[in-house]
Amino acid sequence: MSYCRFMEADVYVFMDTGGFLNCCACNITDDEDQWGSFHAFSTVEMIDHLNTHRMLGQHVPESVFKEIEKDDQKNFMVKVDDWSQADLDGWEVDGRSISY
Ligand SMILES: [Zn+2]
Repeated sequence: MSYCRFMEADVYVFMDTGGFLNCCACNITDDEDQWGSFHAFSTVEMIDHLNTHRMLGQHVPESVFKEIEKDDQKNFMVKVDDWSQADLDGWEVDGRSISY
């Protein structure tokens, strides 16, 4: 789902299926990024990024900030749970399972 598109804002932000918030075709992202998009792996990171857009005088609707904060758990908590589960189970090294 997307939080805003170019029709209504100067940014196009959506939750990517890869597990990150994507500022698509971002005009301030690093030129080395071959996709030309900013990828945020946390809600805070994207809010910082969108604030940078605003500081440059670009239009980012207030609703975007609200929406990504509202969806923070949905967007990112699942991944965090996965990681804590991995910590509990340990992981395999050279075919041997290591656990704590
Ligand atoms: Zn951006």
